Amino acid sequence: MLRAPVHIAPASIVRAGLCIGCGSCAARPQAIPEGDAAPVARMRLDTLGELRPAAATSWMREGPRDFARICPFSPEAPDEDELADALFASAAHSDPRIGRFERAYVGHAAEGDYRQRGSSGGMAGWTAAELLRRGLVDAVAHVLPVEGSRLFRYGISRSPLALARGAKSRYYPVEMSQVLREIRETPGRYAVVGVPCFVKAVQLLRREDALMRERIVFTLGLFCGHMKSALLVESFARQLGVAPRDILTVDFRLKDPSRPANRYTLQITLRDGRLLQRDWFHLIEGDWGSGFFQNPACNFCDDVVAETADISFGDAWVEPHASDWRGTNVVIARSPELARLIEAGIAQGRLALSPVDADFIARTQAAGLRQRREGLAYRLALRTPASRPRKRVRAGASLPWRRRLIYRARAAISRWSRPLQRAALALHAPWLYGAWGRAALAVYQGLAYGRGRLGRALWRVPPLRPPPDGNGQGVD
Ligand SMILES: Cc1cc2nc3c(=O)[nH]c(=O)nc-3n(C[C@H](O)[C@H](O)[C@H](O)COP(=O)(O)OP(=O)(O)OC[C@H]3O[C@@H](n4cnc5c(N)ncnc54)[C@H](O)[C@@H]3O)c2cc1C
Ligand code: SF4
Ligand code: SF4
Repeated sequence: MLRAPVHIAPASIVRAGLCIGCGSCAARPQAIPEGDAAPVARMRLDTLGELRPAAATSWMREGPRDFARICPFSPEAPDEDELADALFASAAHSDPRIGRFERAYVGHAAEGDYRQRGSSGGMAGWTAAELLRRGLVDAVAHVLPVEGSRLFRYGISRSPLALARGAKSRYYPVEMSQVLREIRETPGRYAVVGVPCFVKAVQLLRREDALMRERIVFTLGLFCGHMKSALLVESFARQLGVAPRDILTVDFRLKDPSRPANRYTLQITLRDGRLLQRDWFHLIEGDWGSGFFQNPACNFCDDVVAETADISFGDAWVEPHASDWRGTNVVIARSPELARLIEAGIAQGRLALSPVDADFIARTQAAGLRQRREGLAYRLALRTPASRPRKRVRAGASLPWRRRLIYRARAAISRWSRPLQRAALALHAPWLYGAWGRAALAVYQGLAYGRGRLGRALWRVPPLRPPPDGNGQGVD
């Protein structure tokens, strides 16, 4: 059903669980009938807290004319290798885990308060601001906190000051349709910040559309573990004893000198001004690797490090950096122009970065790469050949039994957490979700880390060795 030559349309991508909700299809001009200012397709949050295109059945069955070539999950669209080969043809290095690149670094922004404001070392914020300061772009499309029905949305910032409001990682559904429309309508040069599949969507759009190619001149990628449903924040709020509607905003990763960087602290700001804090560790969904509220499309993603972005940023999840509460980036510069911009920042003492190689970067993302290589191969093998999405990873199930169970447990948690939370609320029995969630977490952590009585028993059965490293959030 997902392989060409089957008819590829928004409806079939959504039905197959492959829609990440990027909004690219809903922004296509073909979606807007002549003489009508209102777009035909809009992005809406569904009942499971995921963004999806919403439109008349006829549009869902067809989509814009070039849909099969612009949707990042379309089997007919070029994959990340094909895109990167064209974009970074003369790159100095090429690595199967992190793609083509000029230079890679570990460190942080030394100038100003970028590091303090950022989730990690502040390099994404610094680079976007530097593009503006140097006049290389007129505006940056990125994610900002907003008031209203959603907590975060893509917006366009035109100054470093405006950009600063958008610092920090938002584990919350966002989509690009509005900013892509604005870029089309307003002449200028833009940079777009996004997770790997969003950057892929932008690159596909740039291939198809000369206007977008001319206007989007830089892409800034964020490494990505997976995307969360909006239900994550709702569940966090309930565990802190407040109603989701009382939330003003959320800091998913509050920096705290008494906590290592990889022990995330949640901070919720309520409309009445109160601040609530809790370690992720004490929340049901706080183990990132367990997959609670994961978007289903992420099960079929094979790009961890934004292989098609001009530059990409992640967390240095290896010691001593993982323990440094101030946050440390790994950076992959793929375009020569951005590599030069970073080198200039280092030479001027504005960036504290040291060169690293592909192995170092891969070590910082060991867990994410396992999930997107070995884990993806296994998930593909569980599908019939006809229903397997076309990926760069081949289906394969030759894994030790415990790893197979880990992947199955994670997939089950991500599959069931959203509908079970909804069902528990409909029954006015939120404790049902809580009880299921804690039990599911115990099974997962037993399998993954040998935790608890079940875990200790399972880990006595060979071959059971801990993974060599992780991202400190327990991602395995
Ligand atoms: C959903 C998600 C999953 C991630 N998973 C991993 C991971 O597994 N491993 C890893 O090393 N790093 C991961 N990251 C990246 C990491 O959290 C940091 O964003 C990255 O290291 C850059 O940090 P910084 O301090 O340089 O960025 P900052 O200076 O804080 O700037 C962040 C920039 O990203 C934008 N932004 C924030 N959230 C989003 C979003 N959801 N979509 C698009 N743009 C956004 C902001 O508007 C801002 O411009 C993830 C990020 C997200 C959003
Ligand atoms: S283009 Fe984006 S929003 Fe549209 S169907 Fe594909 S993934 Fe979903
Ligand atoms: S895991 Fe992949 S598909 Fe999911 S949000 Fe991240 S980049 Fe997109």
